[in-house]
Amino acid sequence: MEFELSYTPDQEAFRQDVRAWLQANVPAGISRSPRVEEHPQQEWEQRRVLARRLGAKGWLWPTMPREYGGGGLSMDQAIIIAEELDSLGLHSPPYHDSATLVAPSVLVWGSDEQKKAFLPPMLKGEVVTFQCLTEPEVGSDLASVKSSAVKDGDEYVLNGHKTFIGAAHGVDWMWTIAVTDPKAPRHENVSWFIIPANSPGVTIIPMELLGSRGEDGNPEGHKNDIYLDSVRVPAFNLIGGENQGWRVASTHLELEHGGGGRIVRNAFEREFWKYIETAQRDGRHLAEDPDARDVLADIQTDNEITRLLGMRNFYLAHARKPRSYEGSQSSYMRKTAGLRMTHLMGQLLGYQALTTDAEYRIADGHIESQQRSGIINVHPGGTTDIQKLIIARRIGIGRTAKEEAGRLS
Ligand SMILES: Cc1cc2nc3c(=O)[nH]c(=O)nc-3n(C[C@H](O)[C@H](O)[C@H](O)COP(=O)(O)OP(=O)(O)OC[C@H]3O[C@@H](n4cnc5c(N)ncnc54)[C@H](O)[C@@H]3O)c2cc1C
Repeated sequence: MEFELSYTPDQEAFRQDVRAWLQANVPAGISRSPRVEEHPQQEWEQRRVLARRLGAKGWLWPTMPREYGGGGLSMDQAIIIAEELDSLGLHSPPYHDSATLVAPSVLVWGSDEQKKAFLPPMLKGEVVTFQCLTEPEVGSDLASVKSSAVKDGDEYVLNGHKTFIGAAHGVDWMWTIAVTDPKAPRHENVSWFIIPANSPGVTIIPMELLGSRGEDGNPEGHKNDIYLDSVRVPAFNLIGGENQGWRVASTHLELEHGGGGRIVRNAFEREFWKYIETAQRDGRHLAEDPDARDVLADIQTDNEITRLLGMRNFYLAHARKPRSYEGSQSSYMRKTAGLRMTHLMGQLLGYQALTTDAEYRIADGHIESQQRSGIINVHPGGTTDIQKLIIARRIGIGRTAKEEAGRLS
């Protein structure tokens, strides 16, 4: 069976339009680095310019409804836009933005007024959002959150401490779930809020972590501790109904667990194969070494399976097809394959995989970056254990009823 996509002449003509538009509109100064979290401030600002331009064109969120700021385009056009951005080493949005989770959740659960108020700024790239879920004692078991929200007139007053949140360079809106009825049963006690990040009482404190270290030692692309200290949020910002927040969470968790899919190759992978094309060992081409070939075949196989599962999920998401275990399956594969790749590259490249020293580093430091991120990436967005748990529930292992996926439309 042929899995690769093929395109009609009309679609190829659209691709030419996209390519020409990107050539004219990607601001100068944007590096093609796959290390998306490590952009200096100036570059990050240029990426925001690009997002606004894509948003104005309807290409930031091609398949989202036009009335809310999306492009109203077909899935095929979305694929072409994603491919053309990827060929420039760019994602959409071109910086860390959890709008990929929050916008579809608002589309499913928001009132008409809320959709009109919250979706256009996100879909046009005017705001950056962080998901603000994890707490010092609450990660995988998100339903155990301790943060609270108490109604006071037309507002809610939020208190709590969130950790491992977002990225560098600040945020405009955050979104979270918080306990609104401490006496109600689990899953029926929480509500889902959008919080303007400049609200009084919000404190953001950067964390310095293994994955956040830029080459000069600066913690770019870091995570943050976020404190909510009597933060007042309009009642309008509660999405999906009071104490109904778990329903909304089930939508964004479905997407976070891999339900959104991915059409393009991992940009890091491209850098790796580019390096392998010319890499030498003991005076000959590395790929001529039988042991190296053995390792390279494993890496290529893992990457290809990951890519095909991501493609399937991208199709399911953009064609708005029902989903079950597919998101978690692809996430599990991506994470475990990433970690295997870390080990295999260490085996293949030795100490050079670990150094950022300009004299010895390889592939412009991308491989060193992957050595740090491979281990980290198995954890966020649902750990590998959680993905396995979800797959088992969805295919009905040890259950009489199969668990359903979170609502996506
Ligand atoms: C790089 C990074 C970025 C992140 N970004 C964000 C962000 O932007 N916003 C945000 O809100 N959070 C973010 N997080 C937090 C992330 O969502 C949590 O780390 C994750 O949900 C796991 O929670 P935990 O760390 O508390 O681990 P725990 O939930 O305490 O898990 C510890 C271990 O127990 C295992 N485990 C837990 N429950 C089960 C179970 N039922 N069955 C089997 N095994 C289990 C886990 O797999 C893990 O190995 C980020 C984390 C990282 C590392």
